[in-house]
Amino acid sequence: MALEGTVSLCLACGFCCDGTLFNRVPLLEAEVPALKVRLQVVDGQHHARQPCPALDGTACRVYAERPLTCRRYRCLLLEAHEATEVSLAGAVSIVEATKALRATLAAARGHADSGLVVEESRAKRAELALDAAEALERLEKQLAFHFLGQRSRQSR
Ligand code: SF4
Ligand code: SF4
Repeated sequence: MALEGTVSLCLACGFCCDGTLFNRVPLLEAEVPALKVRLQVVDGQHHARQPCPALDGTACRVYAERPLTCRRYRCLLLEAHEATEVSLAGAVSIVEATKALRATLAAARGHADSGLVVEESRAKRAELALDAAEALERLEKQLAFHFLGQRSRQSR
């Protein structure tokens, strides 16, 4: 595994923290007290909302203390890169293509481009104009194919 490539790829991406892929991060009960000030922990539950408030650009502000779920998580693209099936340049180009799809969705919604626009669009799926609905569908196919596979998009 190329740790340097892993860090570089994830710093070019951030989709598993910014709301593009997930809307929550599961937490261990023991993690809640230490992280509830820095993450958006849902009252009475063991998960934090995304987009994650600890995300600074594409970097994690609580990296040393991040939840176990975050430590363990590997999307399909990262797994493929670590298995040397996809070069760093190839993986970053997939991330950039995905960001372009998200930007198209944001433009169709008239919103700023961020992971938030993905979650908002999913929540209002039935009300989306045709261009936004098509942009969301293209983005979700891209996320499923390159990042999620069969995993749920609700949480990691
Ligand atoms: S979605 Fe994958 S490549 Fe992107 S930051 Fe998360 S683990 Fe890294
Ligand atoms: S704690 Fe850090 S690694 Fe985990 S979701 Fe938030 S920004 Fe991402």
